[in-house]
Amino acid sequence: CGIVGYIGTCQAAPVLLDGLSKLEYRGYDSAGIAVYDGNKIQMQKAMGRLKVLEEMTQNGATLPGTVGIGHTRWATHGAPSDLNAHPHFNKDHSIVVVHNGIIENYLKLKKKLMSKGYEFLSETDTEVIAHMLDYYYNGDPLATITKVMHRMEGSYALGILFRDYPDEVYAVRKDSPLIVGTSKSGNLIASDVPAVLKYTRDVYFLENEEIVKLTRDGLHFYNIDEEELEKEATHIDWDM
Ligand code: GLU
Repeated sequence: CGIVGYIGTCQAAPVLLDGLSKLEYRGYDSAGIAVYDGNKIQMQKAMGRLKVLEEMTQNGATLPGTVGIGHTRWATHGAPSDLNAHPHFNKDHSIVVVHNGIIENYLKLKKKLMSKGYEFLSETDTEVIAHMLDYYYNGDPLATITKVMHRMEGSYALGILFRDYPDEVYAVRKDSPLIVGTSKSGNLIASDVPAVLKYTRDVYFLENEEIVKLTRDGLHFYNIDEEELEKEATHIDWDM
């Protein structure tokens, strides 16, 4: 029900946990984060309050790395459980996804993927996204994401990490909210502005079917045709 992402010079896990705590008002039944240290993408997820995840990870200390994505889940497909909690991986753990929304045609996509030998670990609609990204991956994250966008029906805000690209975070949205924040110590994505206010007041509002690539010191926006877009930041001057 809420997603966050971070890439910068700080440790990612504490930033992700803090951001998720600001999205608690959206409601959730489980939470999870994935952090990339340039060597391995490590994940921890748990049913229940964010506090459970904070304790399991010693406030993020057990997941070192400066790149990551996080999620609080409000189950729509598949009961609340550790397995169904996000993030979700592809088969060799080289792609990891968090998703807010509903993939309406997930059963059709799941059937196709299963016929290609993909195995599903969860009952979520979201897991099809991880396997579809795997299926279409050609070394180019942006091209792969747009290909998958063309095949998904429904609503989604996604945060995505690719093991091949340790210095990049990708995000995209359609009919689920997503904002991008930029600061000196790094760049962030979140479902809503309060999650980033501790770090920045300069935010970009992603429009439907826009994609963003975050690096440590830059933001690149694209449309579904992979054309780079110029976007204006909005300065947030209200207080929470
Ligand atoms: N449909 C997804 C699921 O049930 C995402 C739900 C959400 O937005 O939290 O896992």
